[in-house]
Amino acid sequence: MKSNCPECKNDIDLSRYQSIKEGMVIECDHCGMTLLVKSINEGIVTTEIIDEGK
Ligand SMILES: [Zn+2]
Repeated sequence: MKSNCPECKNDIDLSRYQSIKEGMVIECDHCGMTLLVKSINEGIVTTEIIDEGK
């Protein structure tokens, strides 16, 4: 599975997660941004930045 950070545009290392599911919260290992998994499609994980200011 692959995911691209919407913040820093780097590939996120997903190998440290045992499984990725929709609604799960992951962290970008490059910029430390907290991301919510929105959808998983053919191995591509789409994430959304969680705005911690709210
Ligand atoms: Zn990032």
